[in-house]
Amino acid sequence: MNRERNSVDIAIIGGGISGVGIAQYAAAAGYRVLLIDKGEIGGQTSANSSKLIHGGLRYLETGQINLVRKSLKERRNLLNLAPTLVKPVPFYIPIYRESRRRPWAIRAGLSVYALLSELDPLGRFVSVPSVHWQRLQGLKLAGLEAVFQYWDAQTDDKLLTQAVARSAQALGADIYAQAELLGMEHRADGCTVRFSHDGRERQMEASLVVNAAGPWVNEVIARVSPPLTAVDIDWVQGAHLLLAIPANDGILYLESCFDNRVIFVMPWYGQTLIGTTETELSSLTTSPQVTAAERAYLLGIYQHYFPLAGSLDELKDKIIKEYCGVRVLPKQPTQAFERARDTLMQTAVSHPRLLSLYGGKLTTFRSTSAEVLQWVTRHLGRRSALADVDRIILR
Ligand SMILES: Cc1cc2nc3c(=O)[nH]c(=O)nc-3n(C[C@H](O)[C@H](O)[C@H](O)COP(=O)(O)OP(=O)(O)OC[C@H]3O[C@@H](n4cnc5c(N)ncnc54)[C@H](O)[C@@H]3O)c2cc1C
Repeated sequence: MNRERNSVDIAIIGGGISGVGIAQYAAAAGYRVLLIDKGEIGGQTSANSSKLIHGGLRYLETGQINLVRKSLKERRNLLNLAPTLVKPVPFYIPIYRESRRRPWAIRAGLSVYALLSELDPLGRFVSVPSVHWQRLQGLKLAGLEAVFQYWDAQTDDKLLTQAVARSAQALGADIYAQAELLGMEHRADGCTVRFSHDGRERQMEASLVVNAAGPWVNEVIARVSPPLTAVDIDWVQGAHLLLAIPANDGILYLESCFDNRVIFVMPWYGQTLIGTTETELSSLTTSPQVTAAERAYLLGIYQHYFPLAGSLDELKDKIIKEYCGVRVLPKQPTQAFERARDTLMQTAVSHPRLLSLYGGKLTTFRSTSAEVLQWVTRHLGRRSALADVDRIILR
């Protein structure tokens, strides 16, 4: 750290994928950047996702075409820029007699997905001939009518976040873990940011502040003076279970046997990862835990499709690890599963130097960073760039 520095162009609150992405983009564009995180870099939502770098086939059902197009473009970019961290992986969609999504609908969805992938070879999909269905080890074959195979990508979300943070640091950004924002004063000519670090309170002047605190976005807003109104949000927990069951060679895209949702059964370091759920939380005061209902839901779906894997009790004994991430969804009267997953960027006329991010996806962190950089440039003007983020390999 540069001990002399007591002012920066941009202070970023939060070192998840959103914050570190913005730090990398801003530092590469020549701005002086400080990023603080109250815990570990990439230790929260960005370590507890489904770990997919994907267009989001299911978002087509809710008409989020722009998000899918943008995500597919970002998938292509990340496969090129982070080849050791983001890997293509085959996805399989089995369709049974009782499946709500019929083969024609899946074929139509995959055709649109391929079209939105533009010329990306990962856009191709096939109907898997029935002689190959038993390659999906343990999958129930009774009532199976069709299996479609398409492509998306998988990553280690925490390692990806930390790789982006290292890249930002290499470009000169100051990044502090275990540094919590305590308060922020917003003035017409700049902001004073107060934070704890190394057991003491510190202060930094910043021309602009980006609030990328994920689920804590409104907690950060509550620490701003003069006060400002926050967007009303819901916190929606998503649980994952890691089972001591050797993984299949791809990801299964499974329709829940309990509701209209889709869950994934994924390989994760050789074992089987299942996720996810959507459980509304009323507070974030304690760190979220997987509930008994979430365990029963995920294991119930797994057992429905893999009946020979064991009873529910036997499957419970195979859980090696479980984790939860928390989504931020602007409040709406619809089910969480159906709500838009794009990032919402919020500034207030009364606080033009503060930008707050709500929600978003791991996959689209680069396009979010590019949009935030435009906001920065509008306020501070251009600087001489140090590097081109489209050429920086993440490792
Ligand atoms: C269950 C689940 C599954 C998901 N799966 C996928 C997926 O497969 N693919 C995909 O593309 N997206 C997925 N997402 C979305 C994606 O994970 C998130 O959009 C992304 O990780 C959010 O990153 P973030 O940086 O906004 O938040 P976070 O990663 O939560 O980072 C916020 C950071 O702010 C810090 N912070 C909070 N308050 C303060 C403070 N006062 N001072 C300093 N620091 C503070 C926290 O410590 C934290 O590290 C999923 C999300 C969930 C919940």
